[in-house]
Amino acid sequence: LLQLSVPLNYLGMVYRQVKQALINIERMFGLLAEAREVEDAPDAPPLAVRGGEVRFEQVDFAYDAARPILRGVDFRIPAGHTLAVVGTTGAGKSTLARLLFRFYDVGGGRITIDGQDIREVRQDSLRAAIGIVPQDTVLFNDTIYYNIAYGRPDASREEIFAAARAAHVHAFIESLPQGYETTVGERGLKLSGGEKQRVAIARTLLKNPAILVFDEATSALDTRTEKIIQGELAEIAEHRTTLIIAHRLSTIVHADQILVLEHGRVVERGTHEQLLAERGRYAHLWNLQQREQSPAVEETAVQV
Ligand code: ADP
Repeated sequence: LLQLSVPLNYLGMVYRQVKQALINIERMFGLLAEAREVEDAPDAPPLAVRGGEVRFEQVDFAYDAARPILRGVDFRIPAGHTLAVVGTTGAGKSTLARLLFRFYDVGGGRITIDGQDIREVRQDSLRAAIGIVPQDTVLFNDTIYYNIAYGRPDASREEIFAAARAAHVHAFIESLPQGYETTVGERGLKLSGGEKQRVAIARTLLKNPAILVFDEATSALDTRTEKIIQGELAEIAEHRTTLIIAHRLSTIVHADQILVLEHGRVVERGTHEQLLAERGRYAHLWNLQQREQSPAVEETAVQV
């Protein structure tokens, strides 16, 4: 339902595409079951985005009452800053993103954007303010042009080209025999992981949201492409409030703040350097990951 914030004429498009959009979003969030409908309050105003400050205030959440998932999660991402969340699988990291999109309502506490409780504003305006770059982007069986324009269906051709240029994918697209009219997706041209990722970045740039969510879930990029993409993501994160759901710590070294989530609780927080100095969970995870990586990185571990 994420993309229902687009104009009505778009919603009139064929069933196939709407259905595909839903599949896309489910994959994006790994939703196991369909999210319970959350409703707009009758006279809910649109979200008024100023800088895009995000706050989680003592947030509790459970998908089913018997099993708490988040407990008293409390953090603030000042407008334009980056917060990364790390922790083992199942700790509740992706749930934070789902709650920010209001796929579910919190069980306790509240989530605000620029001081407004997200339950009290219109969902279309909330979702228009947030852009997602999932690592495993699913493209629609349609043209590259359509796949980028999806970020903002009323965008002009020039705006779409500008977004593609900023995402470093324009030259590649122009090099294809059919250019922007090339059909991609499962039934079209298969793009590499890095190319898909750039199309997703172009789509997000076109949407131009104040708040970004990067979900690193199941990346299958080679190390070199991943480094380049990381740099590009850092570029688009600049001046936007950014939440990174991180699975590899190497990508979040420069985050303004890092939270370590364990069984739904924040157990550590700080910058990369502060957390290494604490020699706690984060430092342990960091050392484990360094050991798994190439010898070149071991120098860093030794310095620590
Ligand atoms: P992480 O992103 O840290 O790996 P998640 O936020 O995806 O963790 O999941 C946290 C916990 O919530 C996991 O135990 C997961 O099985 C459970 N969970 C996730 N989505 C659902 C859902 N739709 N219904 C019930 N339980 C869920």
